[in-house]
Amino acid sequence: LADERALVAALVGDQADSWDVAGLLPGEVLRELGDRGLLCPQVPTEHGGLGLDSLACGEFTAHAGSLCSSLRSVMTSQGMAAWTIQRLGDADQRSTYLARLTGGELAAVGFSEPEAGSDLSAIGTEIRQDGDSVVVSGQKVWMTAAHYADLLVVFGRHGDGAAAVVVPASAPGVHVERIAEPLGCRAAGHANVRFDSVRLPRNSVLGGTGQSLALLVTTALAYGRMSVAWGCVGILRACLAAASGHAASRRQFGKPLAEHQLVARHLAELLVAEQVATRACEHASRCWDSGSPDAVVSTVLAKHVSSGQAVAGAASAVQVLASAGARDGHVVARAYRDAKLMEVIEGSSEICQLILAQHALTAAR
Ligand code: FAD
Repeated sequence: LADERALVAALVGDQADSWDVAGLLPGEVLRELGDRGLLCPQVPTEHGGLGLDSLACGEFTAHAGSLCSSLRSVMTSQGMAAWTIQRLGDADQRSTYLARLTGGELAAVGFSEPEAGSDLSAIGTEIRQDGDSVVVSGQKVWMTAAHYADLLVVFGRHGDGAAAVVVPASAPGVHVERIAEPLGCRAAGHANVRFDSVRLPRNSVLGGTGQSLALLVTTALAYGRMSVAWGCVGILRACLAAASGHAASRRQFGKPLAEHQLVARHLAELLVAEQVATRACEHASRCWDSGSPDAVVSTVLAKHVSSGQAVAGAASAVQVLASAGARDGHVVARAYRDAKLMEVIEGSSEICQLILAQHALTAAR
């Protein structure tokens, strides 16, 4: 993937700082990456993707994450939308929608609602059948990339079960309201989205109605967690490079910072954090790629470990750079803010811990 990695690096260049400060990614960068299938590289080649396995997709995601977490967040949303369509859609839906997602159109995914955060069983968005149409009514919050998206993959109730539906952002009744000045990933285009009786053709519902909400949500979240976990590896790699470079060149008390042992300890801890997160992600990706029954729990573990390590590692990097990194947009300042959000999304650290504890209890029986 050398060419693809080089293209992402060239398109980002030294602009991640200014994108963060402006709170916006350039549309032409997103379209160019999207048009080459690079925002959802796991999509099979027959649908215009790169057909990457989880390990290769993860390393590519970490590369993007090391350059710009906002861009990586858009990749996570696009990949999660595509994965949901791959897993839940029928053959027609797969060929129609995946071609669009590898052809320059952008997507966002909506689970969260004002009253349904960690507890997604409280989702209230309604997907109602009405003759040859379905009608979507409800509200989603904090949809990453919704500000840029052409398509919105939305989860809701349908009768006694649930459904996932693909909603064009331009459909009448869709209202997208950008979230101003988020704590981190500031250019990722987070938005709250209202659906006022949005009428769509019946084949907008992925794979039929009346499915299990838990199953639908878990399918999409599994991809999102893996992607976020690898994104955190990228954050750690960027922090390690910035902290090591600074500690080697900046001199205080007559010698480089790196020769002060308390500063060297920060570098050692950063390296450990990067390696621990990488190993956890590699293990989970290998579970995905081998179809192991441990894929779900190893993904939760990777997301939990990686996000925690990224938070600690970014704090160490800010400490090493001190005033040199203490301004908005700087790579370690971005990492510090971006990493914290990774402990909140796709199942917070607490929710991950509950899942891991349940696994431990089951394994002990
Ligand atoms: P709450 O559920 O209110 O939780 C508050 C705190 O209580 C958390 O620390 C939580 O861990 C803890 N808590 C809750 N329940 C328990 C429990 N049973 N035991 C222990 N602790 C508990 N949503 C989408 O649908 N699509 C997106 O693309 C998306 N992107 C996001 C991007 C960002 C930057 C952010 C901040 C959020 C995004 N979200 C998205 C929403 C995100 O998924 C939710 O914020 C997350 O699920 C937590 O929900 P909440 O914020 O309502 O917190």
